[in-house]
Amino acid sequence: MFWNKAMETISAGDLEALQLKRLKWTLRQTQQVSLYQKKMKEAGITPDDIRSLDDLQKIPFTTKKDLQAGYPFGLLAVPKREIVRIHTTSGTTGKPTVVGYTRADLGNWSELIARNMVMVGLTDEDTFQNAVNYGLFTGGLGFHYGAERVGMTVVPSATGNTKRQIEMIEDFGVTAIHCTPSYAMHLAEVAESMGAELATLKTGIFGAEPWSESMRAELEKRLGLTAYDSYGLSEMYGPGVAFECRERDGLHIWHDSYLVEIIDPVTGEALGPGERGELVITPLVKEAMPLLRYRTGDVTMLMEDECPCGRGQKIARITGRSDDMLVIRGINVFPSQIEHVLLSLPEVGEQFMVYIDRVKHLDEMTIEVEMSKASFSGELQDLARVQRHVAGALHSTLGLRTTVKLVEPGALPRFEGKARRVVDRRGAI
Ligand SMILES: [Zn+2]
Repeated sequence: MFWNKAMETISAGDLEALQLKRLKWTLRQTQQVSLYQKKMKEAGITPDDIRSLDDLQKIPFTTKKDLQAGYPFGLLAVPKREIVRIHTTSGTTGKPTVVGYTRADLGNWSELIARNMVMVGLTDEDTFQNAVNYGLFTGGLGFHYGAERVGMTVVPSATGNTKRQIEMIEDFGVTAIHCTPSYAMHLAEVAESMGAELATLKTGIFGAEPWSESMRAELEKRLGLTAYDSYGLSEMYGPGVAFECRERDGLHIWHDSYLVEIIDPVTGEALGPGERGELVITPLVKEAMPLLRYRTGDVTMLMEDECPCGRGQKIARITGRSDDMLVIRGINVFPSQIEHVLLSLPEVGEQFMVYIDRVKHLDEMTIEVEMSKASFSGELQDLARVQRHVAGALHSTLGLRTTVKLVEPGALPRFEGKARRVVDRRGAI
């Protein structure tokens, strides 16, 4: 099923012509922004120097720091009266970025979300529970308006009161749900404790944090649904940038709206299909906040194979954000790798917390893990064996020695939005 078949299956030649036309429009739009006037001047180029898609390489990158420096409205390319809504990034590092939307931006955004939802088989017959934060976070209103555009019955449940969320799923016959993967796991736990079967639920859309294939298997088994990965970032409207189709092998990114590059994060050089690097996006239809070559910090690659569904080139699932990446004694560790290991071990649950300390100039990582209900016997020799097993499995995947502390089932915090599983106590280096 397609929402916009002509655009979703556009031929390579037509796509290239459309991208170039839209890139030129975007370049003109960015000339309303002093940051871009300055960047182009420094690079010694004008918008007229960009005559082909390859010329994109001449344009300097835009970074998160550039956006932070423009706080609050420095990146906007239209007069304030044309802005009909603002969202912000979560701002976990420094000032948040303010993202403005014109009426046309909101229309484009809901169009992309509609494409994603129809791509996984959702229709106006579906009832959709949107269990994410509805505030400045883009996940709430973004999916809300996309689902309404498809004609679904939307339940704007937001987060919180998990028992009530489960009652709503059962009472309203909810067929599709959107939330973070960590909250989905919490929903599964609470549903199990209530004896709720969630029989109508068939589709789960999970995003806003990286999650592993073993997490997918676990969520599908416990919630009785098919789980799809959703990718987006507030700087590009929000969710809806890329999404899995029913093949669930990579995410379709909407090339008519986003010009995609993968670069070596250190040298900035372009990488080819199959080579993993940092995703760089130039949005092609954004009016209020156009960006050029925005460095997302997200690690992925362009996929080589054509998808049987007929849509355009996919990107691989995001391995992690550079923001999430931990450097422990010089080794790169993503929390999603820890999750992956824990889910493969039956003795422990999927909940964990990571603490990082510096002891005598050395980084020490401590991982608190809940025992699984089945293995929670409380016998000391048993605990020691499980602890060794978990530490060994983590060591072989991460290449790093860690301290594992086992805790009772239910002892660790649950998260309604993005999980905050890492506490870095190393202080300034
Ligand atoms: Zn596909």
